[in-house]
Amino acid sequence: MRINGLQSNAEALNLIARWTRSTEPDQVAGSSIDLLRRVAGIDLQSFVRQHTTLPLRRGVAGPRALSEHGSIENHSLHRCSGMRQTRAGAFFCPDCVAADQDFHGRSYWRREHQTPGLYWCPKHRIPLRYMSDRRSFLLSPSVCFERAAQIEERWSILVAANPFVAKYLGICAGMMDNARPLPVRQVRFALVAAAKEQSLRTFPTKAPLKPSEHLLSDVMLEAYPRDWIVGLIPSLGAKLRGRDLRQVDGVFWHTVVAAPAITYALAAAVLFETADSALQALAQHQPPPVMRPVRKLPVDEMESARRAYLVSGGSYSCVLSSLGSDGPRAILELEAGGLPDMDMEGSREALCASVAFFLDGRPLEECLQLAGGARVAFESMIRISGNRFKAALCEIVSREGRTVGRNPRTGKAPMLSAAKWTDAQDRQTKKPPIHRAASRQK
Ligand SMILES: [Zn+2]
Repeated sequence: MRINGLQSNAEALNLIARWTRSTEPDQVAGSSIDLLRRVAGIDLQSFVRQHTTLPLRRGVAGPRALSEHGSIENHSLHRCSGMRQTRAGAFFCPDCVAADQDFHGRSYWRREHQTPGLYWCPKHRIPLRYMSDRRSFLLSPSVCFERAAQIEERWSILVAANPFVAKYLGICAGMMDNARPLPVRQVRFALVAAAKEQSLRTFPTKAPLKPSEHLLSDVMLEAYPRDWIVGLIPSLGAKLRGRDLRQVDGVFWHTVVAAPAITYALAAAVLFETADSALQALAQHQPPPVMRPVRKLPVDEMESARRAYLVSGGSYSCVLSSLGSDGPRAILELEAGGLPDMDMEGSREALCASVAFFLDGRPLEECLQLAGGARVAFESMIRISGNRFKAALCEIVSREGRTVGRNPRTGKAPMLSAAKWTDAQDRQTKKPPIHRAASRQK
């Protein structure tokens, strides 16, 4: 509030700091937020949660930034961004101002009215007014009455009637009430789970959209009033239909917080039925466990496993019994290295077919006939023997950016049919693969 001719935040805070030192001389003055909460006479945590927009601006955070809003660990955050605005301008409702003057004897800036995208008072159902100068927060809203700009009423009614806007505002209000930020990984997987049910693309790729597939950015442009959503995310204004916008569609795949919390709220509002169901899903979704690489067996242990495999004629169960507790890990490594289990149903015929294929160099058709009823076992052996090639193939395919999709049923590695792969290569490379291979051999 502008008193004693103060012209800026800095002047006001200096005055408060001097006052704080005179009343609490032993206390070291902290952030602006800390000074303000002393004036208000409440603790830092309550002040941050009830009187600042930090809970919304910090609504979604990475794993190392999940401390409670207003906790002492966030000291540097309070210092550098505690006073930052959520949007340009200072917004107020004239009816709320009049009611505050009647009830409290003076008016104050309401936190809810500073929510990005809110242009009318939810209580009085009238358009808000705003001051574009951020220094207006130093004044009382009642002083701004005459000079404030007014939101056009017809437009505000149109926006207020949009159900997705209402849901988005409900989600923002819920985030503002949260005690701590939502973990970005949990939020991401909750959004992905809802998006998959609506056939939205949830991974980055340059491949064209399938007829049944949609993009979140397109869905958002259709759901929200265009000038309203472009006001919140200006890059949506120039977006082409069917082309992803990382700033929006990236909420599904960015592992770090790559967009303001309101982008996650905007996405949730088009993906969930109600604001409550969205908030519940974002707060409670159980993301899949983080896969940690299995510790590799020491070289000599692995050598014993290989010897046991050869001596037993390729039997996994013999390897398991000879290696004890390291057996299961040894099996995983043998399989990854291309050594299949030769001790299973039909393995005798499959072994004959394998000898004919790998050692005698017989044609595949002939070997399949040789395998007879053990055809499936034979195919399985060939697949496992090609595991190193399979790993390299996955890397080649994903490097080339041809696919990032995973099999929706099994959740397993990139799937790409041979026909699609060849087509993509023919279309997108200057030289066909066979020429590249030939030139490397020279
Ligand atoms: Zn109001």
